[in-house]
Amino acid sequence: MAPQLSRQTENPATPYIGRFAPSPTGLLHIGSLLTAVASFADARAHGGLWRLRMEDLDPPREMAGAAAHILRTLEAFGFEWDGEVVYQSRRHELYRAVLDELRAQGRVYPCYCSRREVAEQARGMGVDGPLYGGRCAHGASATAKTPAWRIRVPAAVYGFGDAVVGHYQQQLAADVGDFVLLRADGFWAYQLAVVADDAEQGITHIVRGQDLLVSTPRQLFLQQCLGYVQPHYAHLPLLTNRLGQKWSKQTLAPAIDAAEAETLLRQVLHWLGLPEAPPVGHHRELLDWAVAHWRMAAVPKAAIVTEAGV
Ligand code: GLU
Repeated sequence: MAPQLSRQTENPATPYIGRFAPSPTGLLHIGSLLTAVASFADARAHGGLWRLRMEDLDPPREMAGAAAHILRTLEAFGFEWDGEVVYQSRRHELYRAVLDELRAQGRVYPCYCSRREVAEQARGMGVDGPLYGGRCAHGASATAKTPAWRIRVPAAVYGFGDAVVGHYQQQLAADVGDFVLLRADGFWAYQLAVVADDAEQGITHIVRGQDLLVSTPRQLFLQQCLGYVQPHYAHLPLLTNRLGQKWSKQTLAPAIDAAEAETLLRQVLHWLGLPEAPPVGHHRELLDWAVAHWRMAAVPKAAIVTEAGV
């Protein structure tokens, strides 16, 4: 049975639970700092909790020591989170329970197609890769290979009102197609883990980068299947280079250094639409100042173009 976990968040005594969920595939860079500041300030400005979740689901893509480095960097910048850090790598049982529930509902099926076959048999290109052609959707003959598990999506529109972007929607069958929840290599897909974790942690507000906007309708669909309460969303502008590429490990965004905390925090507060903060004795005061002056309505929607990741 899948836990109907986020029902607890209907308790008006805890109206806001936010989170920051870095992936330890690299060290924190300026884009991750922007997400950390915005999610923290929005949570605290609402008198809410701010939880930290380490999204260490994909060991082959992870960087040794990054998780511990991320925590130390957040501390050095003055962030304080509520409760213990949650590590996705320790939560396989939760994800398994959620997959079992979807299986009991008859919504998922094993898929034996290789990545190449998926590409070759695609119905077309969706908003996030090829649209699965459906070869295994109606009972594939099992092979010796371990299958991936896919969920069948309806030809229905999933939309929501985003606090930064405004209305956003997709027609799941046409825009995304049946998607993977458990990969053939045994790793859980982000879409399943994030929905399970946000519900289990009672997250009511999700503040994250616009690179994940394309994933949100899939997450709304999973929440609906599982009877979870839909959180509120705010998708932040991305920091990009002049070519419009998001600053990330792939585009060689430099790691942020706590020695530069004041400069970097001031830069991020400016990008987030806050007025200029007065001189401070310690950079921690800048976070307090951001909380006191926070307005999601001031956050711009369009990407922020910046050189060298800073
Ligand atoms: N772990 C994801 C990332 O670092 C964030 C996932 C989320 O906020 O839903 O991009």
